[in-house]
Amino acid sequence: MVLKSFVEVHPESHFPLQNLPYGMFKPNHCSEARPGVAIGDFVLDISVIASAGLLDGPFLRNSNCFNQPNLNKFLELGRPAWKEAHATLQKLLSETEPTLRDNANLRQKALVPMEKVQMLLPVAVGDYTDFYSSINHARNCGLMFRGAGEPIKPNWFHLPIAYHGRASSIVVSGTDIIRPRGQDRPVGNSPPYFGPSRKMDFELEMAAVVGPGNELGKPVDVNEAADHIFGLVLMNDWSARDIQGWECIPLGPFLGKNFGTTISPWIVPLDSLEPFACDAPTQNPPPLPYLSEKKSRNYDISLEVHIKPSGHEDSYVVSKSNFKHLYWTIAQQLAHHTINGCNLKPGDLLGSGTISGPEPDSYGSLLELTWNGQKPLTIAGETRTFLQDGDEVIISGFCKGDGYTVGFGTCSGKILPFPA
Ligand code: MN
Repeated sequence: MVLKSFVEVHPESHFPLQNLPYGMFKPNHCSEARPGVAIGDFVLDISVIASAGLLDGPFLRNSNCFNQPNLNKFLELGRPAWKEAHATLQKLLSETEPTLRDNANLRQKALVPMEKVQMLLPVAVGDYTDFYSSINHARNCGLMFRGAGEPIKPNWFHLPIAYHGRASSIVVSGTDIIRPRGQDRPVGNSPPYFGPSRKMDFELEMAAVVGPGNELGKPVDVNEAADHIFGLVLMNDWSARDIQGWECIPLGPFLGKNFGTTISPWIVPLDSLEPFACDAPTQNPPPLPYLSEKKSRNYDISLEVHIKPSGHEDSYVVSKSNFKHLYWTIAQQLAHHTINGCNLKPGDLLGSGTISGPEPDSYGSLLELTWNGQKPLTIAGETRTFLQDGDEVIISGFCKGDGYTVGFGTCSGKILPFPA
């Protein structure tokens, strides 16, 4: 039997009763931030539900985790509390349960039209790490910058490569992104270029949101890593390819990456993605024992990148990819991250790295789609190698169930010029 809510949910809606993703929102601009779950075109205000004494299970009854400016405290509680919250909210919203359905006063307070709310960052991100887990992306970058000899270095097949990103510049979907200024490599004997980036790019990514952390010095076993991950968000890891290319030798990404990273406001719990779990790709060579999972799983999440060119009303698809293409799983990423004793904390983000599929129209960045500007794209009659000021990038992600859709909504951002 298909679960149904008394709240009307269109079959194409990303937010049916099976999903119930968590976010932080303000019902209007002067109110305080509060947690909510998305249901159809509404947000259920969890703080109202908690105040009404309806979160009465053993893990949440005496917790103030939903009376916080972010979801970190809820994430810290771990999977038993998450399952309790999901089951309680799902029951309250179901068409057969009268408690909320038949209480007009409570419904009025608890269900807010989504178009009226302001969405906020769902978690306080203490640390953000960006992986490089797509084999297609790694191969494309290797082919472009190192040539066909050995596009992917041998270490890539033995460990999930990553760098530490910048948490302070993570912003919620809808936030404008200011084109960064920086240096580009010199031509001939002239000094390096300095000015607005001439190669602004997006990166199609998803990020795992860490739940319970681990103590410093105590690695997480790969087979228990999933219990440390609450859920996934969409992520655009904006990249200035010119700045990145000149600065990254020999230490790696810095100012070409840390001027902004956009995430979607809704965190879809791993538990809601369970019906869409699939086998991860076979890894060859087999990973070391600390990275070997008893069951190595990915999720079948369709991903799309749309661009709304500056001055245009409509957006156009430029890439279709899928989360299942990742070579290294989120469990392997988390286990590898902690194997040296590094501690993770609730609300930390583990970016997947650019998720490129095998086909040219499934690449997850303009760098790959235009092959570093050599093959321009035509979007609505406009030519693009990299992003222009006023261009908006919109990422969406969803899983198709039988008669319903479990989705992430969108993750969008518009490029603004660097102020003169
Ligand atoms: Mn990235």
